Amino acid sequence: MQTEKKDIRALTKEQLRDFFVANGDKAFRGNQVYEWLWSKNAHSFDDMTNVAKSTRQMLEDNFVINHIHVDQMQQSSDGTVKNAVRLHDGLVVESVLIPTETRTTACVSSQVGCSLDCNFCATARLKRMRNLNPDEIFDQVAAIDAESRFYHNRPLSNIVFMGMGEPLMNYNNVIKAIDKITSPEGLGMSPKRITVSTSGLPKMIKKLADDDVRFKLAVSLHSAIDEVRSRIMPFSENFPLADLRESLEYWYKKTKSRVTYEYVVWKGINDRKVDIDALVKFCKYVPCKVNLIEYNPIDDGEFQQADPEVIDAYIKALERNDIVAKVRRSRGKDIDAACGQLANKNEAAGV
Ligand code: SAH
Repeated sequence: MQTEKKDIRALTKEQLRDFFVANGDKAFRGNQVYEWLWSKNAHSFDDMTNVAKSTRQMLEDNFVINHIHVDQMQQSSDGTVKNAVRLHDGLVVESVLIPTETRTTACVSSQVGCSLDCNFCATARLKRMRNLNPDEIFDQVAAIDAESRFYHNRPLSNIVFMGMGEPLMNYNNVIKAIDKITSPEGLGMSPKRITVSTSGLPKMIKKLADDDVRFKLAVSLHSAIDEVRSRIMPFSENFPLADLRESLEYWYKKTKSRVTYEYVVWKGINDRKVDIDALVKFCKYVPCKVNLIEYNPIDDGEFQQADPEVIDAYIKALERNDIVAKVRRSRGKDIDAACGQLANKNEAAGV
């Protein structure tokens, strides 16, 4: 009976070195292959041109490389590119390249689908199928880095975990992927240029702080009033704002890293003065900045972007209280690549 071959990228460098020694080769060969897998982005053993053919065959007999495949690339009129990414088991996730004058940002997925139930998000309508492996997250970043070099003649500069899924519900794999992305043996990116966005899971935010991570944290707040927040993000009923606040205070005490709050203002939901006052109050607990995100409509009309005057009122109130606030315009809307629009619309297969 044939046993299933192991994904070679699940091995650490040491394990790979041990494998070669156990097979009568030099430990150094492990370093060489590791470099192919992680910094040279090899899709197959045949790519490893400085490794002997017999050795490549031996690897082929023992392992697989479960590399992602970019099935489809869609380009928006504003230069944003959306990749439909096929995983080794046929499931599909999406990742996005967002270019501006000065930077290229990769927006990557951490899960296939999502188990949370934010009413305004298209991904929430897909069942959570599974977590992504560290290498599947890494590959999305490497693919966008290559696209950035090709289309914009510059490497990727920033990464946001704002694609499909809740990164802190796939904690270990997200941390492992970031370790690889920031390692000189991977892409060598600075953790300061990476932002993990969470719907706000207090225990996991504390765990991040305890693990002494160096990347930035964004929290999808959307309301600083419990009743409103649990209406639009029903799961948050189990995670009251008092707990979220406490976890963020803990985060700041340990990391000294300012938190970003993501916030969409909707008509008839969080467009009152009490909503603004509650946000201002919440923003005083830890040093922070607020990104007011433009709403990207998903199919039904339940949610509508608030009037510009209300957004202005938010900005003025925040600024009066010395809180940095920015309005973030949507990118890639015409190809359903904007925040909350990732739902594998162009894929019948997968999720
Ligand atoms: N699960 C993580 C990351 C994915 S969502 C999180 O909740 O943070 C990335 C961001 O897009 C979040 O701030 C989310 O609240 C926001 N978002 C979701 N749907 C949206 C929509 N339709 N329009 C605008 N922003 C949306």
